[in-house]
Amino acid sequence: MKRPLSALLFALLVAGCGRGSRSPRASETFPKAPVVLISVDTLRSDHLPFYGYTGVETPALSALREDSILFEKAYSHAPLTVPSHASILTGRVPADHGIHDNLGYRLRKDVPTLAELLKKAGYATGGAVSCFVLKGVSGIARGFDFYDDNVDPAEGNVALGQVQRRGDETEKQLAAWLGSVPSDKSFFAFLHLYEPHTPYEPPEPFKSRYKEQPYDGEIATADAIVGRFISLLKGKGLYDKALIVFLSDHGEGLGEHGEAEHGMFLYREALQVPLLVKFPGSRRAGMSLTSPVALADVFTTICRGVELPDFQAPTGTVSLLDLAAGAPPPARRILSETFFPRIHFGWSELASLLEGRWHYIEAPKPEIYDLETDPAEKNNRISEKLDALRALRADLLKRRPSYETPAGVDLEARKKLASLGYLSAGPSSSAGTLEDPKDRIGTFEELRRGLGEFTLGNAQKAHEVFSRLLAESPRMLDIWDMDSKALLQLGRPEEALAALKKTVDLAPEAARAPYVTEVANLCLQLGKWEEGERHAEALRALGDPAAEDIAARAALGRGDLAAAETAARAGLERGAGKARVRACLVLGRIAVLRGDLATARSFADKAQELSAGDKLAQSGLHMLRGDVLARAGRAPEAEREFLEELRLYPDRMDARVSLSALYASLNRRTDARRVVIELVSRQPTPEAFLLGMRTFHATEDRQGEIQLRREARRLFPSDSRFAPGG
Ligand SMILES: [Zn+2]
Repeated sequence: MKRPLSALLFALLVAGCGRGSRSPRASETFPKAPVVLISVDTLRSDHLPFYGYTGVETPALSALREDSILFEKAYSHAPLTVPSHASILTGRVPADHGIHDNLGYRLRKDVPTLAELLKKAGYATGGAVSCFVLKGVSGIARGFDFYDDNVDPAEGNVALGQVQRRGDETEKQLAAWLGSVPSDKSFFAFLHLYEPHTPYEPPEPFKSRYKEQPYDGEIATADAIVGRFISLLKGKGLYDKALIVFLSDHGEGLGEHGEAEHGMFLYREALQVPLLVKFPGSRRAGMSLTSPVALADVFTTICRGVELPDFQAPTGTVSLLDLAAGAPPPARRILSETFFPRIHFGWSELASLLEGRWHYIEAPKPEIYDLETDPAEKNNRISEKLDALRALRADLLKRRPSYETPAGVDLEARKKLASLGYLSAGPSSSAGTLEDPKDRIGTFEELRRGLGEFTLGNAQKAHEVFSRLLAESPRMLDIWDMDSKALLQLGRPEEALAALKKTVDLAPEAARAPYVTEVANLCLQLGKWEEGERHAEALRALGDPAAEDIAARAALGRGDLAAAETAARAGLERGAGKARVRACLVLGRIAVLRGDLATARSFADKAQELSAGDKLAQSGLHMLRGDVLARAGRAPEAEREFLEELRLYPDRMDARVSLSALYASLNRRTDARRVVIELVSRQPTPEAFLLGMRTFHATEDRQGEIQLRREARRLFPSDSRFAPGG
């Protein structure tokens, strides 16, 4: 009789008071223990050997499992990288931490993060992440002394969600940081790997070993990287002492309910994740726990585990250490959500509750599954009068997150956007009237076809697919974005810009900044300097750090050196990290244009110093040095700098222009022409051809200009900029 009573008591404590509730059974704690959090993105638990899968070998993770407690049923609060990591790092569901999508949302300022709390307790805090969306701009890096998010979209047409770097590079960065932490100091290390995320392109030897299962090949790749990091910890004598948590942020559809990747649905394959907790000294090694737990519990587990003073557990979370110590599992329902279908496609958002064996998904056509008898969730039992359903429904109604922005958006920003012609808010229709994403699988297939065409270089066919989809359903933000890229490729820049602007109209009001940034960048690419500047003003009002860089480049573009200087100086003062490096490069460029080579050189030095060996941040640095040298008449050195820039960043069109101009000035006509031909063959876009033509024009290569125009006209017949005499 004793256990049911304490279970009830525990449930009441957790559900009722929430704040600071103490578990009735004291678990072990490890004050000041080193804490290691390893997140391998997009990793389904049922694709790991220790969850019963036989298709992949993961020696490092399997060894870690031997030393850990395994949670058989761990669930994510969102099938999206940033919302889910924010839950892991704050112990809150998205509605409480404020991040509902990978782009644009910011972590609520009043929500403490794990890194902040540990830092306050004297920990050194370091993190290294592998994908663009986890960059610190969302607020997720708050509290980290060191946060390496050196992942930048290369120039080109890659969706931001795909922008990533290799996990071994991330691991190297975190290892280097760890090497700098004094050995007597406690630390919190966060390692994030993106390997199992699309595209599935494992390197050798995993590429050959998992030829037929590239997703598993990526898991094996991630395993090897985790293994390297764990060896490092062992080598330093830290492994045994550390509290180590290994998890994934969400799973992957792999086509099971019609979704190849993740974000659209809340089925088990997207929500269930692996979760291992290794105690210091590997206590309770090898144990498995079956009660359902949530990723928000990780926050409470770590804070309790190292005995943070005055720690208040977020409502509804428990310490996994308490569960391991035998505390009865709390009676609770695990809440998950996805706004992805709503934000990106204009379809209904989804929310779900997991309680014991039941998984209820709230949708225009709701679903309920019995995970015990139907873990694949193929048999929707909504039409049966299940006892569990009524309570789940009522609870979800109370807890389901609302789409509308809770906090007001800055009035100034709203006005600025309205003056640029944008609609005043995102989709306003209520969820009830929106389509159910599961009824739109066909659209997904079409979309994939369009993307396939685009990747193959068939921009026309891709555009046809996208326009058909948009005619049918004009609220699909992502398709406007892709159609814009196709139109740009087709030499229809005005339409491309108009399509991209649709994304700002459709984006949720609280998350518009990255979409405005994309439009601003396109304006600059198209030489629409004034329009770019006005978008920069809107970004400034939105508090976005990209604003000054865009304003500076726009002013530079229209030749207003004073305005460019003001904006770049503001960026240098107020910006952080790479933004300051970029500001220095713009200031150097301004000095070159003014003929002040000494100042230009000093800004190049400053950019080098600020970028501190960060190769990505240095894009443009060698070019600036080359420009300075070319103007000083030191041609051979200038050539070396331009070539170095192109070796590091082969897509930098402006570096090819400078190099070609240098050759032309030295009367090396053949070389000058070859560099322009390389420019347009590397990126056969209308913009590259225009740049090439302008270069030929400036260097008085009349013949080259005519040939280039002819070729462009053949490739982009509908682009009036290449018309005869255009
Ligand atoms: Zn993810």
